[in-house]
Amino acid sequence: MSETLNTVILGSGCSGLTAAIYAARANLSPLVLEGHEPGGQLSMTTLVENFPGWPEGIQGPELIDNMRRQASRFGATFKLAHLNKVDLSKRPYTLETTAGEFCTRSLIIASGASARWLGLPSEQALIGHGVSSCATCDGFFFRGKEIAVVGGGDSAMEEALFLTRFASKVTLIHRRESFRASKIMLERAIAHPNIELLTNTIIEEVLGVEEKEVKGVRIHNKATNDHSILPISGLFLGIGHEPNATAFTGQIDLDEDGYIRTRDNVFTTKNGLIVPGVYASGDVQDRRYRQAITAAGTGCMAALEVEKFLEEFNH
Ligand code: NAP
Repeated sequence: MSETLNTVILGSGCSGLTAAIYAARANLSPLVLEGHEPGGQLSMTTLVENFPGWPEGIQGPELIDNMRRQASRFGATFKLAHLNKVDLSKRPYTLETTAGEFCTRSLIIASGASARWLGLPSEQALIGHGVSSCATCDGFFFRGKEIAVVGGGDSAMEEALFLTRFASKVTLIHRRESFRASKIMLERAIAHPNIELLTNTIIEEVLGVEEKEVKGVRIHNKATNDHSILPISGLFLGIGHEPNATAFTGQIDLDEDGYIRTRDNVFTTKNGLIVPGVYASGDVQDRRYRQAITAAGTGCMAALEVEKFLEEFNH
């Protein structure tokens, strides 16, 4: 194992890269482990129109690349590596990764949350071309169009209701008869004149792969055994997110869905007590806002806390 690092940042999305910029500018030479989705969710979107400072919008991958270059300029280094195992029981902390073992005085967990996808090849091929997992990011592109949202939880209801601001019609497709969504959200969706609910329905294929834009979905109603085609221009996935925090099970406190519980924004805990020098930022600890700018904000906070921690404890 090599020298002990000041700080390791897990994840290279908006949060991890913002942490890297701040930690690098504080002369901490952070090491960023890029994880299994380098660049995070922004690298999978197209135009980002709500990140402050870009009046004409900026492509998600370009925004990420800019942040990465900004962090490199101040001395951050990057490694394509995935965390296998971590030991937070004693300091310095040891991380076992696919690129070897690292020893660090502090750690920023910015490993994000991955959107759940249906897993259909046609769906995967059309991500960014009409298939999206983020209504806030991409809803604007579907002004006056007919679209569909998949899912039966609060996220799907929220997305469907939000998308009625743009789309002329939103079809909510859910695989079962009953919904997981809260009563109030479900009632709002049912009451909306531009939302139609299709229950007991699964999507078998997203149409439009050759044209590189969503043309419709082939659906199967399991109750009636009908197969049909629903013509739409956009498909939004609202079937939940998985926080990338399983490696920390038993080492820090997670909530019932596996998100990292934080205190005072970015401090991690174990059995309610602060874990020294270990911070979490971005979507891995945020199930509420999930925006690039909020992820960047907590990434900044985590790096400032690392700086303070290393100073205070004279490491
Ligand atoms: P969720 O409650 O886990 O719901 C996911 C939905 O997607 C379920 O209806 C599930 O169907 C469906 N689904 C999952 N995998 C699927 C697949 N492969 N194919 C088709 N459908 C699939 O997730 P969520 O809606 O993201 O909510 C997560 C948590 O955040 C909840 O506690 C929720 O209340 C909260 N939340 C709150 C708000 C709000 O209050 N404004 C907004 C968003 C989220 P089944 O029902 O058949 O399993």
